[in-house]
Amino acid sequence: MSDTKSVAVVGAGIFGLSLAVALREKGYDVAVFDRHPYDETQYDPVADENVQAASFRASYGTKLHYQRLALEGREAWIAINKASGDDLFVPSGMLRIQPSDELGALEKETLANMERDGIRQTQFVKSLPEDRKRAEAEGWGAKLLEFPIPDSKDARSFEAVLDSLGGFMRCSNACLYFHKLATSKGVKFIFGNEHGSVESIVEEAVGDKKKAVGVKTKDGVVHMANVVAVAGGSFTTQLIPDLSTHLESSGGSLATFKIDPENKALWDKYSPEKFPVTTWKSTPRNKTGKDTGSVYVLPRTPDGLVKIGFRGIKFTNFQPAPEGVPFTQDGKWSIPMSPKDSSTIPEAAVDSIRQFVKIFLPDFDQVPFYSTKLCWYTDSLDNSFVIDHVPTYTDNSLFVCTGGSGHGAKFLPVLGKHAADILENGDMATSFLRPFWRWRPDAPRRNGLEEGPDSPRNIGQAQFQ
Ligand SMILES: Cc1cc2nc3c(=O)[nH]c(=O)nc-3n(C[C@H](O)[C@H](O)[C@H](O)COP(=O)(O)OP(=O)(O)OC[C@H]3O[C@@H](n4cnc5c(N)ncnc54)[C@H](O)[C@@H]3O)c2cc1C
Repeated sequence: MSDTKSVAVVGAGIFGLSLAVALREKGYDVAVFDRHPYDETQYDPVADENVQAASFRASYGTKLHYQRLALEGREAWIAINKASGDDLFVPSGMLRIQPSDELGALEKETLANMERDGIRQTQFVKSLPEDRKRAEAEGWGAKLLEFPIPDSKDARSFEAVLDSLGGFMRCSNACLYFHKLATSKGVKFIFGNEHGSVESIVEEAVGDKKKAVGVKTKDGVVHMANVVAVAGGSFTTQLIPDLSTHLESSGGSLATFKIDPENKALWDKYSPEKFPVTTWKSTPRNKTGKDTGSVYVLPRTPDGLVKIGFRGIKFTNFQPAPEGVPFTQDGKWSIPMSPKDSSTIPEAAVDSIRQFVKIFLPDFDQVPFYSTKLCWYTDSLDNSFVIDHVPTYTDNSLFVCTGGSGHGAKFLPVLGKHAADILENGDMATSFLRPFWRWRPDAPRRNGLEEGPDSPRNIGQAQFQ
């Protein structure tokens, strides 16, 4: 271990918890700060007005490093399920429905990569007789669901691929599990809007550079630490404005239906045992490779909630940036909206979700949503995480662990190990993820981060019903 002894982690979400456990296992003194009183709410989604379930996929197209990490994560989830006696990861499978009755280009690439990696047998293509036969033999046959293509000639149905490695995580329960695990290992937690809310990073001048020496919380207390690691999700840029070149917040649209347990037919039909996580791209990727039409649904929760997400348009929320923010577009940056303002979703999202429901969840066609919500992504320039030291601070004193870009939750059990390796060893880290997660101001401005406030994605320009 290096000389570093104490780390102040800001954020007790997926990234912060994972990092805290891994650092503690390496022998660091770790204190985690979060403004949410998770010790009181126990990461309870009702108290937090959230539906915290996230899908798990092993398919990552050409991004084999994430496929590899997902498989590492899956193994860890299975072990955690055993150790906890709880289904924190539910291996319900994931059905990737194609835009038409044929396999899309990305899908073919994904299957080819899986073939090369020796895991093709975990995937079942609906139209391939040999795959169907294998699915039946292995108990997956009933999840190769048939969905007729509306208005198609010859009653054709959508092509689909069932990923038997896929499923979903119960995120709140998983965070609670990791919180308890961290506490049992000696990680300290400081929660709450006064004591746990970090207002600033405490700095010392070292020559013409600055060094992070701790954090100051809203109650005015300064907590000293050798390293400050910020894992603040979509709020991270507000604490470290240098990240504004790398990251942008955008809102994903969620809607739920609620099934009454008395309705045995629906309760059963949408259970994880019968219904896989189901995703659909209503349109193929456009010429630049951008996904403009994807919607997904998770099997019902034990509370009967069926969660549907639309990620075809990730809505930005451009607001005037404070002075000194190094990267802005027309003096603005996109930051999360308040929870109060995030409870309704734009018409474009409602329309896409309704179209999806009509085709794939006809039982809910005329049913009003039980809830809607915008949930804030932390998008990076290339959808890869940003986990590295901040170069404008000396002595590797400030570290960031963020940039989840809508796919971080599945990595909770394994992300921290790689992040802690990078925190401790920088360029000497042995993690295969080091090159992908580095601080990368040279990365081209893509992934929607080039669009700025004039984009139709800006929620200020969106229509609401
Ligand atoms: C709509 C949507 C759908 C998604 N679906 C999936 C999916 O299907 N599969 C998947 O794997 N991933 C999914 N994700 C991504 C996943 O949820 C994120 O990658 C993950 O939650 C990011 O974790 P985090 O720790 O960075 O942020 P968070 O979990 O948001 O945690 C950040 C924490 O930092 C705290 N914080 C911030 N600033 C401060 C401060 N100044 N002081 C104190 N505390 C602070 C916050 O209170 C919060 O608790 C989805 C994300 C969204 C938005």
